[in-house]
Formats: sequence, C-alpha cells, structure tokens
Amino acid sequence: MFENLSERLERSFKILKGEGKITEINVAETLKDVRRALLDADVNYKVAKNFTDTVKTKALGMNVLTAVKPGQLMVKIVHDELAKLMGGEATELHLSGKPSIILMSGLQGSGKTTFSGKLANMLKTKQHKNPMLVACDVYRPAAIEQLKVVGAQVGVPVYAEDENKNVNEIALHAIQEAKAKGHDVVIVDTAGRLAVDESMMREIASLKDAIHPDETLFVVDSMTGQDAVNTAKEFNDRLDFDGVVLTKLDGDTRGGAALSIRTVVTKPIKFIGTGEKMEAIDVFHPERMADRILG
Ligand code: GDP
Repeated sequence: MFENLSERLERSFKILKGEGKITEINVAETLKDVRRALLDADVNYKVAKNFTDTVKTKALGMNVLTAVKPGQLMVKIVHDELAKLMGGEATELHLSGKPSIILMSGLQGSGKTTFSGKLANMLKTKQHKNPMLVACDVYRPAAIEQLKVVGAQVGVPVYAEDENKNVNEIALHAIQEAKAKGHDVVIVDTAGRLAVDESMMREIASLKDAIHPDETLFVVDSMTGQDAVNTAKEFNDRLDFDGVVLTKLDGDTRGGAALSIRTVVTKPIKFIGTGEKMEAIDVFHPERMADRILG
C-alpha cells in the first residue's frame, strides 16, 4: 500500500536533503511536489492544499532555511502533519452496553461481512469477549450463508432468521438471545447496495434507531479512492456513524481515502483490513501509518 506515494514523497525531499544551501524556492518547489503526489494518490483537493499550506507555515516558523538538516526537519514536519491528518491518536471502540452492540454499514462488497468476522475474532481472542454475529443482510440468501461460514471459521455463533425480512425484528430478537445466552457483544451485519440508495439508507437508519448501537461503523473499500470519501460523507450525513473501517489496504491502494476521510467526514478511522483472512485486521494507528508512508 502507498508505494507510489512513498516513492514520490521521497523524491520530493531529495533536493532538501542534498548538501547545498536551501532557498525558499527549494522549499516551495518541494511542497508543490508534495501536493502533486498527494493529488495523484487521490487525496481530496482541499485536503491536499490545506496540508501543504500548513506544512509551509510550520517549516518557515521552524526556520527550515537555516536548519542544519533542513531535509530531515521537513520530513519530520510532514510526518507529524500526516499523522494529524489521519486523526493523531488511535481511537478505541466504546463498548459499554450490556450487551454492547456494533452496527456495520457500508456498500455491498466493501467488506462488511468479512470485517464482522474479523472483529468478532479479535474481540474474542484479544479481549476475551463472548461475541455473537447477527445476519441482517436479508436480501441475498448467500449473504446469510457467508456470515455463517465466517462465524464458523472464528468459532462465533451467528443469529439468523432465514424466513424473516424485517431486520429490526431480527436484530431485536438477536439482542434478547444474546442477553439470555450471556453474549457481551452483538455484531450486526447489514445489507449494502452497489451504490448509495434511499431504501438502504432508510433501512439502516431505522435499524440504528431501533437497536441504539454503542458503535456504528462504516466499512469502506480503500481501493475506491475519492469515491470512498464521498460515500463516507453520504452515510455519515444519514447515520452519524462513530468510526470508519478501511478495508483492502493490502491491495494496490493509493492512499487517498486514508488521508482524506478524517478531514472530510470528521470521524476517526478505527480499523483497517489487510487481507481476506480472519486475522487480517489492525487497529488504525495514524502515527504508524505516517511512518509507513514516509518509509
Ligand atoms: P460485504 O458485501 O460488504 O459484506 O463484503 P464482503 O465481506 O463479502 O467482502 C467482499 C470481498 O472483499 C470478499 O471477496 C472479501 O474476501 C474481500 N475482502 C474483504 N476485506 C478484505 C481485505 O481487507 N483485503 C482483501 N484483499 N480483500 C478483502
């Protein structure tokens, strides 16, 4: 992930890292390069512009022109600003309900079902929780089956009502069952569509009102670049979700979604998906991601 952006940024800093004296023109040229690299990585235009403006102000404020190692200082400023852009600190899940309820949202194919399994597995193995998965994607029979397969893989029970199409009812029944059986976390997988669609939004908004989740997560495919950010905005306008899950970061993703979502949507990225296996999940750490981008 981010290989192209990393390479481009490294190239941009080359002049500043050289031996000669640094001029304001060198700094301006470098920042222009950085902005181009961000735009090519599919970062939102305004985000990229604000980013380089901030870096410039910081660089001049820290007297980069007279610094002993101006290149290193610039890399550090860019690193810190990248981390800030992605949210600064890692953000935890807030699970206080009894049981705690986590609602998944997102388009079809974004990776909701896979992520539901990964999260259940992580909560079970790392936090010693006793989760239950709930199948509320009732339109595609294959979706219920897929969640059952995922549940079996991680050893987490799946609540489903094969004949019922009323997702609010299913979820409420599932919560009762979780209470009766001593499950402390309920993860509700929902139906997505291929594009944002009014009936999907109405259904998930109504489900959210009915079950009062502790966490509503928006799952999005990082490979979709600027579309990921636009979709996030549409879901957030309707659902006011709590956090973002960026999937498929193991692929050839350019990085734009990771870098733009926090600023555009003002919600933190909480987890990343880095593969199809159940273990391919990480808590999102902005600092570590910035380290990665800057090599
Ligand atoms: P849903 O329709 O939102 O429930 O999406 P799925 O969970 O069915 O995922 C769609 C496809 O993306 C499946 O083939 C998954 O195996 C794949 N997938 C999900 N997450 C990841 C990931 O982090 N990396 C990769 N490479 N593939 C993923």
